Amino acid sequence: MIPARKPILYIISAPSGSGKSTLVNELLKLVPALDFSISYTTRAPRGSEQNGKQYHFVPRTEFEQMIRADEFLEHANVFGNYYGTARRFLKEAEQKGHDLLLDIDVQGAAQIKKKLPEAVSIFVLPPDRKTLEWRLRKRSEDVEEVIQRRLVTASREIENYDKYNYILINDVLEKSVESLQDIVLAERFGRPGRPLTESEKQIVERAERCRLANVKDRLGPILESFRKPPPAAQ
Ligand code: ADP
Ligand code: 5GP
Repeated sequence: MIPARKPILYIISAPSGSGKSTLVNELLKLVPALDFSISYTTRAPRGSEQNGKQYHFVPRTEFEQMIRADEFLEHANVFGNYYGTARRFLKEAEQKGHDLLLDIDVQGAAQIKKKLPEAVSIFVLPPDRKTLEWRLRKRSEDVEEVIQRRLVTASREIENYDKYNYILINDVLEKSVESLQDIVLAERFGRPGRPLTESEKQIVERAERCRLANVKDRLGPILESFRKPPPAAQ
């Protein structure tokens, strides 16, 4: 029997409203054999969310029981609720020969990188603070107070960008989806150590443009827009 190949773990983090869910949904339609890790959470379902689809919604007592039983690869408290990735998701992906995509916050990403340094981490950034604010409003999911809280949290989270392998500046959606797909595929090509075809080489080359070291000089104005207080508060 051929041993199952180790799954690649992709971690994607972003300040709320950057467009991460939109990008992930598009990516999952394009890339085969990539499973989305459906986290456990103690928060209540929102809008049309269904148990077992976006999240496994569980009571706090059940989540705490899972922590005690060491069932989580990582878990964190985000906005007052527990969120966690079950260890079994990784095993299930391995059995299917699939890779696993984790949509988790910066605390969870740091925990995974400590345990599994070979995990591939991607940080999604909005083009600037104003655009993030506009996207949060456009989504019409939150009241004003929550939008303001998300913006403050975003300013803090963004400072963790340099702990990630890749940075994706989500400006034009179609381009961002392509870049995300390039990153995922390039990492797959890199693992078996076989010679690459010409088209695979091009994908690797494009993915390299999103490497942290290659994006750094474009980040200054974005970070600055979050560090400066918004005009109304000046
Ligand atoms: P997140 O999952 O990061 O909180 P969403 O995927 O919910 O963010 O996106 C927030 C809003 O921004 C949504 O209304 C979405 O349609 C929109 N959006 C996402 N990416 C882009 C983009 N590149 N350009 C314009 N609007 C976008
Ligand atoms: P939301 O409640 O808006 O779906 O998610 C809030 C935040 O929790 C997002 O930043 C999301 O990435 C993060 N999150 C979702 N699942 C997990 C998880 O399993 N672990 C961690 N650490 N964060 C998670």
